[in-house]
Amino acid sequence: MGVALGLKKDELKNAKEYVNEVLALVKKKNPGETEFHQAVEEVLHSLIPIIAKHPVYMDNGILERLTEPERLITFSVPWVDDNGKTHVNRGFRVQFNSALGPYKGGLRFHPSVNASIVKFLGFEQILKNSLTGQPLGAGKGGSDFDPKGKSDGEIMRFTQSFATELNKHIGPDIDIPAGDTGVGAREIGFMFGQMKRLRGAYEAGILTGKGLEYGGSLVRKEATGYGTVYFLNEMLKDAGLSLNGKRVTVSGSGNVSIYAMEKAAESGATIVACSDSDGYIYDPSGIEIATVKRIKEEEGKRISEYLKTHPGAEYHSGCSGIWSLPCDIALPCATQNEIDENDAQMLVKNHVLAVAEGANMPSTKAAKDLFVKNNVLFAPAKAANAGGVAVSSLEMAQNSMRLRWTFEEVDQHLQKIMKNIYQETKKASEEYGYPGDLSVGANLAGFKRVADALVSQGVV
Ligand code: GLU
Repeated sequence: MGVALGLKKDELKNAKEYVNEVLALVKKKNPGETEFHQAVEEVLHSLIPIIAKHPVYMDNGILERLTEPERLITFSVPWVDDNGKTHVNRGFRVQFNSALGPYKGGLRFHPSVNASIVKFLGFEQILKNSLTGQPLGAGKGGSDFDPKGKSDGEIMRFTQSFATELNKHIGPDIDIPAGDTGVGAREIGFMFGQMKRLRGAYEAGILTGKGLEYGGSLVRKEATGYGTVYFLNEMLKDAGLSLNGKRVTVSGSGNVSIYAMEKAAESGATIVACSDSDGYIYDPSGIEIATVKRIKEEEGKRISEYLKTHPGAEYHSGCSGIWSLPCDIALPCATQNEIDENDAQMLVKNHVLAVAEGANMPSTKAAKDLFVKNNVLFAPAKAANAGGVAVSSLEMAQNSMRLRWTFEEVDQHLQKIMKNIYQETKKASEEYGYPGDLSVGANLAGFKRVADALVSQGVV
């Protein structure tokens, strides 16, 4: 470390001490928030060479400022179910950092949502949004509400109650939420309708991921999955490889997963497996994506339904077994920490060539280290899945201009942005002495832009 930069031992030692001090502070201030600690720890360790090279960051307390959310809002979300029973969930919005633009990031409805989860997601979002090159600060939010098994009426009443409170804190130049796990076009629609009534104004730019009829952007739905594959294609090309003829395992079957499968198949790959939170399907001859789309997007059913029309495929309950299947390329597109060291070992044993993260932080640190050690090409989440938020930014631009771009125009922008993220990430990894480690490269490149903006904007 630091060799490529000609750093002195003292400079590196000071930077290491500073990083460790801030890490200890983060752990003390946010006790028990393991996911948040995990995300911060991984990023901060990789920043040591850039901190050592630019003492101005230490002098300006950049790491303390980056790891402390500018604002964390929690609120109660009361709602009434179809039987007239009242429930109360907890709502969150973390407005993490506004150095580069208004707070921007999705909302997650899932029983696992708590302060640690929203802070880890919000923290990752700072560097991800920075990597897009768009004028975006970072935020994240959601609720511990479980949408599974709820009726449309229940989803609407819960979402309207959530939106009523969240509305007080957002705006096109303040904070622009979007979707994430459990929040798609339906929920964004309910939120938009409620906020429009509360605001007494039609401000299209208060949310992204809107329906195409009322200010949404073409390609937004596909953007995260497509973007992950665009990034993957760049990474493979650089290594003299391509997706053509490769067997690809994609976890999840939500928005990210479906469009990652679609784009990978378009590039000549065979999708051999995908999953939901109950289990996974496996078909070495290739999964029919149109069927997965119908089951998940139109019918809202479980992935096990797939066997009704494709009896030759296999269904296995439980999710983690998906990584024991032989494949050339793995695309984790479900959730955080879904690939642990054990899973990574199985993938390596089966000679996986590349892993590209469509979900947020799907690989544990130990899993990532194992991939890098074994020369598996690795595309880290904050770079590889930035296409979603990048197209959200394009949706905001179209809303401000009050016009609409074609599918091809938005897709061209997305491809350019993903190529650029790949180049910047690679460049930073080489410049700071970590060639081949895009995780470190993404952290460094994302950090530099935010840190420089924070220095320029001063304190107080
Ligand atoms: N939830 C997505 C993400 O993790 C998209 C956020 C957005 O579009 O604001 O980046």
